[in-house]
Amino acid sequence: MVKMNVNTAKHEGVRLGILGGGLSGMAYAYFSSRIGFNTTVLEKNVAPGGLMRSIFEEGFTFDTGGSHVIFSKDTDVLSFMLSLLGNNRVENKRNTAILYKGRLVKYPFENGLSDLPFLENLSCLLHFLYARMWRKRNAGNLREFFYSSLGRAISEKYLIPYNEKIWKMSIDDMSLGFIGRIPNPSVMDVVKASLGIGSEGYVHQLFFHYPRKGGIQALIESLRDRVQGDVLTGFEVKRVEKESGEWVVSNGSVEKVFDRIVCTIPLHDAARIFDVPQDVKRDVERLRFNSLVTVAIGLEELNVKGLSWMYIPDRDIHPHRVSFPSNFSPENAPEGRSSILAEITVKPDDPLLKTSSDEVASIVVDELDRLKILSKDKVIFKNVFQHKYAYPILDSNYQECVERIRVFFNRMGVELVGRFAEFKYINMDDAIRNVANHLGIQRISEYS
Ligand SMILES: Cc1cc2nc3c(=O)[nH]c(=O)nc-3n(C[C@H](O)[C@H](O)[C@H](O)COP(=O)(O)OP(=O)(O)OC[C@H]3O[C@@H](n4cnc5c(N)ncnc54)[C@H](O)[C@@H]3O)c2cc1C
Repeated sequence: MVKMNVNTAKHEGVRLGILGGGLSGMAYAYFSSRIGFNTTVLEKNVAPGGLMRSIFEEGFTFDTGGSHVIFSKDTDVLSFMLSLLGNNRVENKRNTAILYKGRLVKYPFENGLSDLPFLENLSCLLHFLYARMWRKRNAGNLREFFYSSLGRAISEKYLIPYNEKIWKMSIDDMSLGFIGRIPNPSVMDVVKASLGIGSEGYVHQLFFHYPRKGGIQALIESLRDRVQGDVLTGFEVKRVEKESGEWVVSNGSVEKVFDRIVCTIPLHDAARIFDVPQDVKRDVERLRFNSLVTVAIGLEELNVKGLSWMYIPDRDIHPHRVSFPSNFSPENAPEGRSSILAEITVKPDDPLLKTSSDEVASIVVDELDRLKILSKDKVIFKNVFQHKYAYPILDSNYQECVERIRVFFNRMGVELVGRFAEFKYINMDDAIRNVANHLGIQRISEYS
């Protein structure tokens, strides 16, 4: 029996059009249809999922938008996500490392100091202790924040090169919008790590869940099965207009009419689709983002190290992270085989996006072979995927632009929801909580 903490009567029969069927659109459809809306999702691709699409080829399963794992500090959202998967899930203990100068350092870096050469370990520890003694409370940018929370040595060996590689910008231009995601270890943990006494950081992710079958898209498929409304795929929204108090949404040939609109598609596309004045367009153009290229690799041997994923701060190597999906679930690869997914962030105009898939795959396989992450002669499957909108860049002017854009859309009566519609660096759990907040739902698990 579903207990509602939202008044459903006022939504009864309201025709709600949700633009975009990524997690935010699908979660919005799930909850809104349960509180009375007459919901329709319009998704441009052949399947919903957005960044959470998975592919199934030659017995391998890969998440095309980068490997996704399920974890959360928000126990209400976590239990909702797990309820969507039912028995179709596996739990794993994280086994992750940073590839630093050819050696594996336990992740997070500050919990793996004893894996470093002795003098580097010592310098990280001393800088960390010094930083904690003289900790600056109000850091002005990310560099200052890193120095003051983890010390100069850990920052310069790992945090700064890794973040500059993934964000494709100088650390000095990045805002503090990210700091909620950066581990904040205790002094005792770092001292223990330096002495080689095991300690764990970022503990809410230490154990993570993953669908046994179907890749991360299984979560989306489960939502799709439960949405009490329509999910129209292959419907690319090209124009949205208000006519006589109703919203008319068109893909160029078919029109759909709604009383209310929720937009989860990226702002850069929304600014073309809606009637938006020049000043709002300018604000949208000022928002920067990074795209993602993923290289899926199947190997004809088992992966013996058992790693979940590995970070590669080295700027001369394309991928910043490689994950091992066959270690997430045995169903992700045929028996006796294993898989790797390499992730590369690029600026949206990077020539790599125009390079042929064969060439990109060869470059990455060669690099991973050189790093001894795989043996080239064991590769039996390769494929390359691209996602234009992967990482919103939280630079120093994004907040004020996003606020002006949000106010404009809200005045028009359009709700912006989701990673690229709100321009928020959110994970799956945040995306679901965010949708619930928009709908005034507090206890998500009551809607399982
Ligand atoms: C590399 C990477 C790894 C990640 N790993 C994790 C992880 O391990 N754990 C975690 O919790 N989170 C992870 N995330 C975050 C997670 O992917 C996002 O929080 C979530 O997918 C956001 O969903 P969304 O619906 O807001 O956006 P999107 O997935 O971008 O959805 C937008 C949707 O709109 C559709 N669309 C766009 N234009 C149109 C149009 N004109 N008409 C119709 N439809 C349109 C798109 O096709 C898409 O389906 C990761 C993200 C990335 C990039």
